[in-house]
Amino acid sequence: MQIDFLGATREVTGSKFLITTKGGKKILLDCGMYQGKGLDTDRLNRNLGFDPSEVDYLILSHAHIDHSGLIPYIYKLGFRGSIISTSATRNLCSYMLIDSAFIQESDSNKYNRKLPLKGFEESTPLYSEEDARKCMELFITTEFNHKLNIAPNIDVTFYTTGHMLGAACIYLEIKENGKSIRIAYTGDIGRQKSYILSTPADFPQCDYLITESTYGNRLHEPEDDAKKLLHEIVYHTCIEKRGKLIIPSFAVGRTQEILYVLNELYNENKLPPIKVFVDSPLAINATSVFRQHIEYLNDNVKKTILYDDDPFNFGSATYIRDVEKSKALNKYRKPCIIISASGMLEAGRVKHHVANNIMKPKNTILMVGYCAPTTLGARIQEKGLKKISIFGNEIAVRAEIKSIEAFSGHGDYREMIKYLRCQNPNEIKNIFLVHGEYQTQLDYKQYLQENGFRDIIIPEVGNKYILQDREAVRI
Ligand SMILES: [Zn+2]
Repeated sequence: MQIDFLGATREVTGSKFLITTKGGKKILLDCGMYQGKGLDTDRLNRNLGFDPSEVDYLILSHAHIDHSGLIPYIYKLGFRGSIISTSATRNLCSYMLIDSAFIQESDSNKYNRKLPLKGFEESTPLYSEEDARKCMELFITTEFNHKLNIAPNIDVTFYTTGHMLGAACIYLEIKENGKSIRIAYTGDIGRQKSYILSTPADFPQCDYLITESTYGNRLHEPEDDAKKLLHEIVYHTCIEKRGKLIIPSFAVGRTQEILYVLNELYNENKLPPIKVFVDSPLAINATSVFRQHIEYLNDNVKKTILYDDDPFNFGSATYIRDVEKSKALNKYRKPCIIISASGMLEAGRVKHHVANNIMKPKNTILMVGYCAPTTLGARIQEKGLKKISIFGNEIAVRAEIKSIEAFSGHGDYREMIKYLRCQNPNEIKNIFLVHGEYQTQLDYKQYLQENGFRDIIIPEVGNKYILQDREAVRI
């Protein structure tokens, strides 16, 4: 069989890997959108590198847009195969893909309004809300640890990776010429210890491993410190400085974890008497999916609901859907916490909150997740930054800029290796490193080698390999 690496190669977005079996079945692993690549983003997303109408199965590791965001686009281009995911992933996608379509449609409208002045070509969204709604009909859901036979000689099993609700390692067993070839694609790998998510689970021995490398050269602070750090930053900003704490956060996953920790602080009477605004309709919808799937969350959450029936809500929390109410937050003068998307500050309401608050020293911007190097979220964290351009305006940076990495949904390199210990390195024919910046991948490769893993390949976009009963051959 053949595998084509079509995205998230030597970078962190656009996950897409296409397997073509000897029998001619085409299986796509993830269908993610490129994000934060400036003017190149649109071109990269449109050039898929395959014909969607030929794909039989899309197997989805999790709902994050950099893994799922092009599903409505391939639907629009004729994909009518089955999408296989966990039920939580499907339920999250039902909100996230529509939200993605909405962002694209409004971005295009904004851009097109300025066109006559500049003489550029008109912008069209990759897909519409209608495409995002219709593609949901293609989903077939399964649960963790259940072997699903999707076609003669093709089985798939999901194992939890604890990266976000419903996130899975995809374990494929494909029989060719009477021999079974086992391919494991980890998707994104979570933390060994999280406030709400389970620990990544072992998966059976594979022949070929495709694995992420986001934090391949970084170590996080211990998870236990994250709550303490968050508490200190809330106290310092909202009590000592009497300012606003703005937390740009991925609407799905990170926001729920932050809310859970704030809920704990509230229950322990440690949260100051200030308002906590969750300003993101998507985060509100996603939180409802988290509530529906408590069974996927860890024992912390299961214990909490015995005495607190809503672990993502508390007395001082206010959820905001309405755009006018979101705008009204600019006039809210009291100290408060505003949690809003997007996490990398690329789009969404939080960009306005940052633009409106970054010039005042009493405020704090707190980054809680990974930001790709070219994004506003990464630029804002540059040391000694005096000014930043947001919405085309130069704004003085006087607020404190802080970060807590322990809330990351990705394990650091020590955690990833611990997870991969479920494999016997000698039985793996090749490891393909994906979903990481190139230098990080080179460092991680070395670290893996020091830990007994070998035959590691860092593919480039468009690379094709033949997978067989020995080492992969590049074609
Ligand atoms: Zn992810």
